[in-house]
Amino acid sequence: MKKLAFKLLHSLGITLFAAWWNRKRVIFLCYHGVTKSDFRSPHNRKGLHVNRHRFLAHLDYLQRRYHVISLGDYLEARQAGRALPKYSVVLTFDDGFRNFLTVAAPCLAARSMPATVFLITDRTGDVHAAESSHTWKLEDDTSYLSWEEVSRLKQGQNIEFGSHTCSHPQLLTLSLEETERELQDSYNALVAHLKIEKLALSYPKGEHSEIIADCARKLGYCCAVTADRGASEFDHDLFTLGRTLVGDFDDESSFAVRVSGLRWWLVKVQSILDRPSTGKRQQAIATIPHLESEGNLKKEMEDQSLA
Ligand SMILES: [Zn+2]
Repeated sequence: MKKLAFKLLHSLGITLFAAWWNRKRVIFLCYHGVTKSDFRSPHNRKGLHVNRHRFLAHLDYLQRRYHVISLGDYLEARQAGRALPKYSVVLTFDDGFRNFLTVAAPCLAARSMPATVFLITDRTGDVHAAESSHTWKLEDDTSYLSWEEVSRLKQGQNIEFGSHTCSHPQLLTLSLEETERELQDSYNALVAHLKIEKLALSYPKGEHSEIIADCARKLGYCCAVTADRGASEFDHDLFTLGRTLVGDFDDESSFAVRVSGLRWWLVKVQSILDRPSTGKRQQAIATIPHLESEGNLKKEMEDQSLA
């Protein structure tokens, strides 16, 4: 039903209207991996690894309607007070799966599209160039990039790297000292390996709070991204930049709904309808089937250990 609703919204041009409405805002998309696997393996039951053909369709759609800019471009434009192109989109990839190197990066390079990869630094390995193959294997969907591969990607094309902490913990369950260690040690590892001056942070599973954001700010991060949907205003708080999760279930209509910012509106509408109130509202809930609520997204991400 959800797919049908998205198809209808897309075919009626509502997604184009939403994209136009958000044209001066920036949309951040959050991918995890891109795979060449033709079947949905058990570790990918939620579709966080997008099939290469679907990913190429996403990139084609972006190329037709949007300007893909790097996170660095976004930050520089903000600092300089310079306007960004309308319909700007930033692509991000969480976790640093090895299939970024063997599948996603060549697709991005062919279109000269930039992206940012957020690494779990304790999982970033030590494979040397001689052992590194660029041919995709199924295990690339569950293994992680090595520092050498990360360095080569950074030098070879417009790929930026940021921190996704050391061990991908649930930050909201940690003490302040543990949070500081996760953020500081991953920061130090990235600086030591890649000599990066400006480092961005991605909160694991999007979990964040004012205290965690403040901690990141004090440790010297330049910004942090969440998993809260919605288009970011040009002057949005740098430590709560929202992102829209994209997965293998997103066909063109669903992708168009997400990248246009329309999904956020739909969730807001449903959250209003979900408030216990009159019989009329309860009736209205039943007429809007399967619109994903923030709570559902959080549950979906909690269920997905790699989110
Ligand atoms: Zn993650």
